[in-house]
Amino acid sequence: MRLQLTHPLFFPDIFPYPNSTAVTSLSGTFSNMDKITDKIAALPADASYFSLEFFPPKTTMGTTNLRARLDRMSRALRPLFITVTWGAGGSTASRSLELAELCQRDLGITTCLHLTCTNMNKALVDEALSAAKELGIRNILALRGDEPRGEYRDALEQRKDGEDEFVWAVDLVRYIRKHYGDFFCVGVAAYPEGHADGSHPAEQSLEHDLPYLVEKVQAGADFIMTQLFYDVEAYDKFERVLREHESGLFKKMPIIPGLMPIQSYQILKRTAKLSNARLPESITDRLDAVRGDDEMVKKVGVDILSEIVESVKAIKSRTPGAKGFHFYTLNLEKAVAFILERSTLIPALTPTVSASSSFAIDDIRGGAVPEFLINGEKKKTRRQSSVGSDPHNFVIVDREDAENFEATAAEAGIIKDGVNTRANTLAISEGEGTLGREATWDEYVLLSPSNCSTPFAFQGQTFFQ
Ligand SMILES: Cc1cc2nc3c(=O)[nH]c(=O)nc-3n(C[C@H](O)[C@H](O)[C@H](O)COP(=O)(O)OP(=O)(O)OC[C@H]3O[C@@H](n4cnc5c(N)ncnc54)[C@H](O)[C@@H]3O)c2cc1C
Repeated sequence: MRLQLTHPLFFPDIFPYPNSTAVTSLSGTFSNMDKITDKIAALPADASYFSLEFFPPKTTMGTTNLRARLDRMSRALRPLFITVTWGAGGSTASRSLELAELCQRDLGITTCLHLTCTNMNKALVDEALSAAKELGIRNILALRGDEPRGEYRDALEQRKDGEDEFVWAVDLVRYIRKHYGDFFCVGVAAYPEGHADGSHPAEQSLEHDLPYLVEKVQAGADFIMTQLFYDVEAYDKFERVLREHESGLFKKMPIIPGLMPIQSYQILKRTAKLSNARLPESITDRLDAVRGDDEMVKKVGVDILSEIVESVKAIKSRTPGAKGFHFYTLNLEKAVAFILERSTLIPALTPTVSASSSFAIDDIRGGAVPEFLINGEKKKTRRQSSVGSDPHNFVIVDREDAENFEATAAEAGIIKDGVNTRANTLAISEGEGTLGREATWDEYVLLSPSNCSTPFAFQGQTFFQ
């Protein structure tokens, strides 16, 4: 099996979204097509797209694993862009920038760097922005952030220069516009159920946040990305209020709903609470019924999230323009891959793909694709334009004589009678085989039931299950 990095620099025609050939470089040639809003605007009005969020791992091993996973996910799932979180107060500054560099420059994925401003002095903000610019990153999610947690607080204290230059996210948006003009496409956060600010429990509402969201857009924000939610009615109200706002500011602005796949019962409960996201009874009832079985929780979670995507698509069809979704992946791929496939969010490759392109050669070993197999069953030929649009690169079969577009289990690195006994369409995205075996590592660390106080990162903070 040949595994090869399909970098858009080398194969610009096979990537799903128009990507200009003037790409990023340290010498300062930048492509406008790396701006998220330009990429969205270039999509057909009835298209859907999605983005994936990752946080920087703490260890070298974690980074190595994530690199392989990112490469695999970017090629198989084809997000419009990915985002990299920023630790509160700059606690992950260098690791966030390293991960963003890996994504933008090494893997060629349009990258959006989260940047918080509270507890960050001007020098730190400047360092981050100029490093991002140098790396060719054209997108910043401008956030206020929160107090850093204990483990980082002492180190960060020393960096503070006593100036409170940045209090709210709007201060960062203004700063970026003032010092970087239009170089960056700037996104801001919004909260369909109100921002969960512990200090203002009475003020957790969309109505409370709205004037400040207006301020952020007036200061120059280009798109909105939301807090995770499971209550579709709340999202419906949120989007309606924004679209119909008297200012007209939100009429056409991309509003990207944030969704978190359900990885475990505990993580769901914890993150929903932290995020002020209501869990409707219709959801908790289904999960309560299987809560003792981790695999079933994930499976039911995929059903739930796929249903949410469908409902949000219906809401979004009221407004012209492509329908976007942002997934908080927690650096895991399995659940999100299933949801994306179920919701048909994975984009087909452009019709310009030729069977002789390197991607096709690499993944289906050249030649036309007359038919392919799923679970041993012959399926009708997929259009060439959609070759590779499944979250896997080729069909894994349990025969020895694999055809052009098939791979034997051995070639795919599947242990005999091992991890993956059903040759299926999601083998790679399940983190199995040579491509993905190491990918289960994060999952183990994060979700192992015997590891119930393992840390996980969410929105720049480290939490414990
Ligand atoms: C999509 C997304 C990604 C995130 N990524 C990260 C991350 O990578 N790292 C991280 O640390 N955190 C992250 N967060 C969390 C975020 O930093 C926190 O939710 C933070 O508490 C608020 O940030 P904000 O940008 O929404 O702040 P703001 O827009 O400043 O709003 C914060 C709160 O203050 C209120 N407010 C705003 N302006 C004023 C004003 N002038 N006067 C009075 N009240 C005001 C708002 O209504 C809101 O309640 C993310 C959140 C989201 C939704």
